[in-house]
Parts: sequence; C-alpha cells; structure tokens
Amino acid sequence: EVKNSVDAALRDRALRVVPGGMWGHLHANRLPEGYPQFFARAEGCRLWDVDGRSYLDFMCSWGPNLLGHHHPEVEAAAERQARLGDCMNGPAEVMVELAELLVDTVAHADWTQFQKNGTDATTSCATIARAGTGRRKLLAARGAYHGAVPWCSPSVVGVTSEDRAHILYYDFNDAESLRAAATEAGDDLAGIIVSAYRHDLARDQELPTQGFATAARAICDETGAALILDEVRAGFRLDLAGSWERFGVRPDLAAWSKSIANGHALAAVTGRDWLRQAASQVFVTGSFWCAAVPMAAAVATLTVLRRDNIVARLEAMGTRLRDAIDASAARHGVALRQSGPVQMPLILFEDDADFAKGNLFCQTALARGVYFHPRHNMFLSAAHGEAEIDEAIAAADTALAAVAAGSRTAA
Ligand code: PMP
Repeated sequence: EVKNSVDAALRDRALRVVPGGMWGHLHANRLPEGYPQFFARAEGCRLWDVDGRSYLDFMCSWGPNLLGHHHPEVEAAAERQARLGDCMNGPAEVMVELAELLVDTVAHADWTQFQKNGTDATTSCATIARAGTGRRKLLAARGAYHGAVPWCSPSVVGVTSEDRAHILYYDFNDAESLRAAATEAGDDLAGIIVSAYRHDLARDQELPTQGFATAARAICDETGAALILDEVRAGFRLDLAGSWERFGVRPDLAAWSKSIANGHALAAVTGRDWLRQAASQVFVTGSFWCAAVPMAAAVATLTVLRRDNIVARLEAMGTRLRDAIDASAARHGVALRQSGPVQMPLILFEDDADFAKGNLFCQTALARGVYFHPRHNMFLSAAHGEAEIDEAIAAADTALAAVAAGSRTAA
C-alpha cells in the first residue's frame, strides 16, 4: 500500500536541503504516524494533502484560518489591492483605514502598529513597554508561548541566559506568584505579559480567573508597568473588543496576528495613549511590514467578523462539538477532558501520560478524514457549519470506539 508516497518523497528531498526536513512545531514527526507533512490545497475548512487525501480541518493553519480558506470577500479585497500594489516604498492608504478599524474594534486601543508575525508583535510590545517605562524587567508565565526568539523561545538551544536576563516568571492564574515576581522586579518592572488564556501545549487549557485578571491590572496600576495581553492565538475568536473585556480588564498593549487577515501575513500591536510616544520612538520595522495586500485582507476580515457576529457562530458550533464528544465518550466508557473555550477545543484523555490514547483517537479520526491534534489546542473557523461539525462528531465517535477497544485490549 502506497498511502503517503508523494509526501514521503517530498520529505526525502526536503531532508537533503532543509535541516531536519522541516523546522519548529510544524514538523510532522511531532504528530502520530499517518499525518501528512505537505499540503496541496485548501478550501473553506478542508485541506488536501499532496497524495490527494482530503481532511475536514480542526487546526485552521494553527489559527490564521478564521473565516475559511478563500473567503470571497477577503480574497476580492486582497486581489483588488494586489492589482494596485503590495510591497511598495511605504504603506498604501489601506494602512490608515485598517488602523482606524482596529482602533474602533479593540476596546483598549488608542493606536496601532503593524508587523508580520505574532513574535514581531509580542517582541514589539516588550520593547515599547521598556521604552515607555524606562525599566527593564518583564514578567512572563512559566510555560507560556509568546514566540520564537531568544527572550521567549520554548527551546534554549542557541539561546544565552543573557537573552533572558530581565525576564522573571510567574504561574498563570496564581496572583500570589505574580505579586512575588513583581516584588522581585521592584522599581525596574516594565511590564507583565500574559496570554488571553492558558493554552500551553499538552495540558488542560485554563481560562483566567477574575481574581488573576484583576490582580494583573492592579499590579500594573500600582507600579506604572504595562499590562501586555498576548492575543496572538485567541484574538478575534473570543471577543472582538479584547479577550479580557469579560473581566472588565483592559491591557496597555496587546499583540495580535494569526487570524487578523484570515491567512494573509499580518500582525499588529494595539496600545493606549500613555505609550504612544514610546511606540513612535522605538525602532521597529521589517521589509514586508507595510505590504498592502494583507492589510486589505484584514480590513475585509474585520468587517465580516463585526457584521456577521462570527464569535457567536464559533461558540455555537464549538458547543455542538464539545457536547456530542462528551456524550460519545460516555457511551464508549472513555474518560476524557475537554478544556478551554469551545471554539478552541482541546481533548485530552485520562491515564494517558504517553498520549497513546490521544494519538489513537487522532489517527482513527484522520483515517476517517478529520484532522484533529492530540496535544495542541485546535481551532474552529466560520466555515465549520452544522453539517461539518456532525461529520466530525461521527469520526470522533468511531475514534472513541477505537480508544475503548484499545483500552480493553491493554487491560
Ligand atoms: N503568542 C502566542 C500566544 C502564539 O500562539 C504564537 C504562535 N503560536 C505566538 C505568540 C507567535 O506567533 P508567530 O508564530 O506568528 O510568530
């Protein structure tokens, strides 16, 4: 049987000319066997691999695909701008239009600046916080992901301790540990960076508690430090105005990327007035940061998100999926935990330290044409309707039967 033959041939070729064949967390060897490395095309919430197999997708490009691949309004706006010009000597008119729209959409935002990747945005926030306060220390949650550069990379390979000399750590949802870290930073505290919610790899997701969110704001108010909300992953999926609006807590700076332009390369920092001057003085730029096509795509994306109440749709579809999987698991006698916001699902199994159950669950679903992830949070898009969710529920039911059968064999 030659199931993944084109994929396997591409992996062999890549190994010769790309170190390790692929970098970072997108390496298919981090997934169970059978997952493809290479994809041929995408449409709505479906993906086709290079061997022609199609998948109903629950990773959404690890976040960017929010409205569905090839969303007609987004692509029409991008094409219109592409005919005019993309990468020019400076930005197009659409940059101002997008900045106005973002400032109008995001509650704390008095201004915005644009970049390409989430790491650009989180790193810019750190720089602006330091410039605006004249201080050095940044508090970050242990195990949180804020990007792939030395100050925050999850790997220390190639990283020096000096790169992190001014980063202090606290535990998410632990106000005491946050206070302790702030006390240690003393009058050198520039900012606290915190994710919209806890979505660390391979552990249950956790929404912030009201007490933790309030404490983070209070510490910054007391010390004059900047509260930095990392919205890169959750942004525009929970609340367009900001993921901490539900707590009545507004950050001083926020980092956005992934879904902001529905798959086009764009990131943004939003900020409050007291950091405006600092933001204008730090030196941050990149060759492609003012490209106009992604900005036109972002204007269209935000317009659709606001007009069509996409967050409510994601919540409804996510609830449909979560409830059905819980019921199916109970029917099969499989103990699992679903955590985090329903529109960003994570399914972990009890007694599964080696992820054997999670891997079997995902491999069985994959064979039925549904692409889940065993350890990383997943994502819904607006292209997932009731029919697609029901298709996933049916595949999950088969996969849970396989997990139940596997547990009986093992026992
Ligand atoms: N912050 C968070 C919360 C993220 O999820 C990510 C990307 N997974 C980043 C920052 C970094 O974004 P990028 O990979 O686009 O640099």
